[in-house]
Amino acid sequence: MPARTSGASRWRAKSPTSELVEGPSERDLDGFDFTAQPSLDPRQIRELAACRWVAHGEALLLLGPPGVGKTHLAIALGRAAIREGYSVLFVTAPALVAALAKAHLEGRLEERLGFFAKPKLLTTDELGYLPFETNAAHLFFQLVSRRYERGSMLITSNRAVGEWGSVFGDPVVATAILDRLLHHSQVITIRGDSYRLREKRRSGLIKATLSDDAAALA
Ligand code: ADP
Ligand code: MG
Repeated sequence: MPARTSGASRWRAKSPTSELVEGPSERDLDGFDFTAQPSLDPRQIRELAACRWVAHGEALLLLGPPGVGKTHLAIALGRAAIREGYSVLFVTAPALVAALAKAHLEGRLEERLGFFAKPKLLTTDELGYLPFETNAAHLFFQLVSRRYERGSMLITSNRAVGEWGSVFGDPVVATAILDRLLHHSQVITIRGDSYRLREKRRSGLIKATLSDDAAALA
């Protein structure tokens, strides 16, 4: 099992389609303003940063509308896992699926699944912004099955799990994916306003009357 290794940098070196969490985005829990996000329990997030869920190979789903800090927290928790010595890979859902689909076409699916199955924590950001094609949903299912009870997955999504049938374009595959992901998991739903728009509103870039429209588009 690729657990506590010094292999984190290996993932960075070998991964053209992904970015190690340790990369340029300096997002940490210290920089996260919990008062701006009252739907989150700071104790629960700090507990997650201790990475016991990663040690146990559990899943974490961070759900919520755009701009509420899902990616920020996913990066911060990934950095915490790296500090604890775990191998971590960060990839967006479209990049992950594109990489699997390309490998499938080229007859290298096994190798690519092995690559994405290896890190102790695989963070998949932005699931749900783009719908999956049927074949992509099957490929994602294969990856989730392979990682099941072996390595952790952290997934961020703007869609509630009840909507994942339409995200994956196939309710049967979505159920199979969720069955494995939710078996040992924590699901955190963040509510509230976009932090990005809040900052803009404060600086007067968005007038209050426009903010609802802008929030709908964000
Ligand atoms: P999401 O992934 O949910 O769309 P992001 O994590 O990308 O949102 O957050 C949008 C921007 O706002 C980022 O620059 C992020 O660092 C910042 N941000 C969001 N929430 C907070 C917060 N509670 N405290 C500090 N910065 C935040
Ligand atoms: Mg995001």
